[in-house]
Amino acid sequence: MGAAPQNGVLVVAAGRGSRAGGALAKQYQPIGGQAVLRRTLEQFVSEERIGMIQVVIHPDDSELYENCTEGLGKLNPPVFGGETRQASVRLGLEALAAENPANVLIHDAARPFVTGDIICAVLDALEAHDGALAALPVADTLKQVADSRITATLPRDNLWRAQTPQGFRFQVIRKAHAKAAEAGKTDFTDDTAVAEWAGLDVAAVMGSEANIKLTTSEDMRMADDKLSGKTAAGSQTGTYEFRTGTGYDVHAFTAGSSVTLCGVEIPHSLGLKGHSDADVAMHALTDALLGAVCEGDIGAHFPPSDPQWKGAPSRTFLARAAELVARRGAAITHVDVTIICEAPKIGPHREAMRAKLSEVLELDKSRISVKATTTEGLGYTGRREGIAAQAAATVKLPA
Ligand code: MG
Repeated sequence: MGAAPQNGVLVVAAGRGSRAGGALAKQYQPIGGQAVLRRTLEQFVSEERIGMIQVVIHPDDSELYENCTEGLGKLNPPVFGGETRQASVRLGLEALAAENPANVLIHDAARPFVTGDIICAVLDALEAHDGALAALPVADTLKQVADSRITATLPRDNLWRAQTPQGFRFQVIRKAHAKAAEAGKTDFTDDTAVAEWAGLDVAAVMGSEANIKLTTSEDMRMADDKLSGKTAAGSQTGTYEFRTGTGYDVHAFTAGSSVTLCGVEIPHSLGLKGHSDADVAMHALTDALLGAVCEGDIGAHFPPSDPQWKGAPSRTFLARAAELVARRGAAITHVDVTIICEAPKIGPHREAMRAKLSEVLELDKSRISVKATTTEGLGYTGRREGIAAQAAATVKLPA
């Protein structure tokens, strides 16, 4: 390290925000084939005035974090966040204290469009101020509304919208956060609010309209389109790859009065033997999804020797496989299930099966195929000894 003061970055990625939809926190969802958080971090990694980056994560997200930051430089080991954003920032600042950077930029994980220009403008302002934030003057006219009725038009002069990064002299903001925690002040929504409360001198520098915080599923879609080079017609450049997994399963008949196939209970003169609900079709499909993302097989995830799966509904297994697909940043494109038996008849239940799979996979029915065949009296299914099923699943995954 040279004599130049080291600038650190603290990225707050501990949130579980669900407004963007999906099974994953939005900072781990892909835009343009890459996790939002990775894209955000790359903007700081590539800025030479930044020496170290500390990310604050949720304790459940360690594996996601490791996957999405593979190969990135300048990163300290992540630390776990607290109950609120404010608490998470304070914990991150304490982790950075060992390195004691001259300045720290605090940034939202969900603002992946921050630029080197904005980063440098905030750092430059710290030469003359305790703190500085990227912000934009309010352009729209502001209305006060109550019960959907306008009650006032507010003057917008001097009003700015706060973005991040928000930069500070490191020890100054560290002390301000510690003091706020000691005073029991827990409702600050950003770090300059903490700084203002502590009486610090904070400057505003020009942010950009592009530097938005991805909040809703619409924001995510627009960001993905922007980075994927998607056109209005929906075509796109190749930043994804497609993979197909297959699955196969057999269950023997036993005494009983119904069988469960694709989550639908069908009256029959026999039942199916198995540790769980013996839904042979869902088992084959679960294996197909696991195969598409190379996550082993159903037996490895749900060992028959484990009593907790006795009588378990197979939708639990299928939902878990879908979650593993989502955790890889992949999306299910299509599934196709074939049920092989002489009886019962599948046709009358096909639509109910597609609806059930649609519900469990959170996938449109137009992407779900269920069909059936017999083996013309041949083999174990032909002899009516049991039911077999095979499945294929196609997933779209960031290349
Ligand atoms: Mg099975």
